[in-house]
Amino acid sequence: MLFPNDNNSGIMRVGLMGGTFDPIHMGHLVTAEEARQQFDLDYVIFVPTGSPPHKDHDSISLPEHRYLMTSLAVMSNPSFFVSSFEINAKAPTYTIDTVRHFCCGEQGSPELYFITGADAILEIFTWKEYEELLRLCTFIAVSRPGYSLELFRQTLDSNCPEMQQKVHLLEIPALAVSSTFIRERVALGKTIKYLTPEPVEQYIKNHGLYLVGK
Ligand code: ATP
Ligand code: MG
Repeated sequence: MLFPNDNNSGIMRVGLMGGTFDPIHMGHLVTAEEARQQFDLDYVIFVPTGSPPHKDHDSISLPEHRYLMTSLAVMSNPSFFVSSFEINAKAPTYTIDTVRHFCCGEQGSPELYFITGADAILEIFTWKEYEELLRLCTFIAVSRPGYSLELFRQTLDSNCPEMQQKVHLLEIPALAVSSTFIRERVALGKTIKYLTPEPVEQYIKNHGLYLVGK
């Protein structure tokens, strides 16, 4: 995956945002844009998961659908890209595989920022090769509505003070939308207008996605 290098310092600052994106929604996009601005990122790359190990495979839309919806959603933002790395992988991938893939690319080594939910970060000790992960990238832990950043900070500080340098907290303007919420609304025949970009809304309609409750 090649990107124009318009950063004078030569070292690109790249955000990675992993997710099922079934479907991608405004919560994801607002989060990525906020992270881009606050951390002065050159790009944010959305990485839809192939076969997420922790979710029920049968209830997840085909990777092609999730990849295309994510591509449609980022089209209007020149700083946003989508990667098919995890979707094309033959075996299930872990965050460390994805980070390794992007940290040593054809254009040298960018500074990597992995954007993820604050709750997920608290489980980082269970992730594959988490020490190496913390060496290779910085984490941007975003808060979802109703989540206490203060509690997060205390938990992190008491469990692993050395992570302070590598984990930044980012409060996101209140957006309670989730993919589950969107899927449920479609199944109930309710509108999803303004919860996801219009081309994604159209794609869901055209392909009859989420019509049965999942
Ligand atoms: P689902 O309801 O199917 O679990 P989701 O809305 O949580 O979907 P994911 O694809 O699972 O979306 O999430 C990808 C990443 O985006 C995760 O790190 C998650 O914490 C974050 N995220 C999801 N929704 C929001 C939101 N509304 N605000 C901020 N971050 C979010
Ligand atoms: Mg989720």
